[in-house]
Amino acid sequence: MDFDFSPEQRALYDGTLDFARKHLGEAPSGAFDRARWDALAGQGLCGLVSPEEHGGLGLGALDSAIVMEALGRGCTDTGLCFTLAAHLFACSVPLVRYGSEEQKARYLPRLASGAWIATHSITEPDAGSDVGGMRTTAVESDGSWLLNGSKSYASNAPVADLFLVHAMSRPGAGYLGISAFLIERDTPGLSLSQPYDKLGLRSSPIGDIFLEDVSLDAGALLGSAGTGGSIFTHSMNWERACLFALYVGMMDRQLDEVVAHARSRKAFGKPIAKHQGVAFRVADMKLRLEAARLLLYRAAWRLDQGEVRGISADSAMAKLAVGEAAVQSGLDAIAIFGGLGIMEESGIARMLRDAVPATIFSGTAEMQRNVIARDLGVG
Ligand SMILES: Cc1cc2nc3c(=O)[nH]c(=O)nc-3n(C[C@H](O)[C@H](O)[C@H](O)COP(=O)(O)OP(=O)(O)OC[C@H]3O[C@@H](n4cnc5c(N)ncnc54)[C@H](O)[C@@H]3O)c2cc1C
Repeated sequence: MDFDFSPEQRALYDGTLDFARKHLGEAPSGAFDRARWDALAGQGLCGLVSPEEHGGLGLGALDSAIVMEALGRGCTDTGLCFTLAAHLFACSVPLVRYGSEEQKARYLPRLASGAWIATHSITEPDAGSDVGGMRTTAVESDGSWLLNGSKSYASNAPVADLFLVHAMSRPGAGYLGISAFLIERDTPGLSLSQPYDKLGLRSSPIGDIFLEDVSLDAGALLGSAGTGGSIFTHSMNWERACLFALYVGMMDRQLDEVVAHARSRKAFGKPIAKHQGVAFRVADMKLRLEAARLLLYRAAWRLDQGEVRGISADSAMAKLAVGEAAVQSGLDAIAIFGGLGIMEESGIARMLRDAVPATIFSGTAEMQRNVIARDLGVG
């Protein structure tokens, strides 16, 4: 067992951190910023997981997690990093694994260059955790597909060019009846809601997708009919490990700020860091961060070993540990900053707002516990 980064991984982390600090700068408080997306693209980050022959960097899960951690530490715009992660782990990853040669040649170079942005959509108004209960239908006839229905809360949808959409092609078959499709933005019958305002990750646009008699040829099917559930599981295994690395980086940045504040802020004649109640809270933040980091890197490392048994439980544990740590540490950071922590100018409140959605997207905390319990043969 070796818990250190290799020299190449250290260079990857340091280079990405340096780039994020210099070029992503202070986060704008508002909407998605295309110029900042283009900066990520210029660094090759939109093609992190795509093979080199398709214009990407061809990184595996562990190295991708290292890049995401560095971005999360160096870039205060967690929403921007989240948009990148959704594009990579929920869209490019399944395309690399399940795409036909034609699909890969058409889409991967555009996604890797950042010219196109991708969205992955499975959630529906009446089917979130219970994805097998989806109502969007895909009906095959004479070699083409007709899709009807609506999808909810798709990250990146308002700015997306490529839509990876799941639909039910065998009604009544639940998870095994789901198929995945690649739909381009200008396809007749596809329309979008206005973007939602949300608690955190505000610079990552999110919206609903409406499909009305969307006609697709056979080439739009990703994988084969009925493999949408496997495609979804594969993307979630990557997302739950690699995307959540950005929260590990965010917690590292938060801890730096908390330690600096606790050492400089004085109360009752001494730095608040000298009050044991504050020092213990900081120690707990560090413990939570390091425990979550270890689970996350183990899951990413195991992903690189192939589809080993138990990988879904490993990714679920990583996601659960990181998401819950980010929320609790967000509350602890506010407690240590006192009133200043509540004020937007401190940037401390924003970290909590950005952390709360992490207990919902990529499957809620309860659904992760279900995955872990199932792996143990209980629940
Ligand atoms: C910021 C953000 C980004 C998102 N991005 C995307 C995206 O890109 N693509 C996409 O498809 N979706 C996306 N989603 C949607 C997200 O995946 C769903 O919101 C999530 O899966 C939960 O579904 P739901 O909202 O319908 O809640 P429900 O499924 O209605 O759950 C409500 C509550 O019931 C609990 N619950 C449900 N079933 C069980 C059970 N069996 N056991 C225990 N508890 C249970 C849940 O844990 C939760 O607490 C995003 C959501 C957010 C907040």
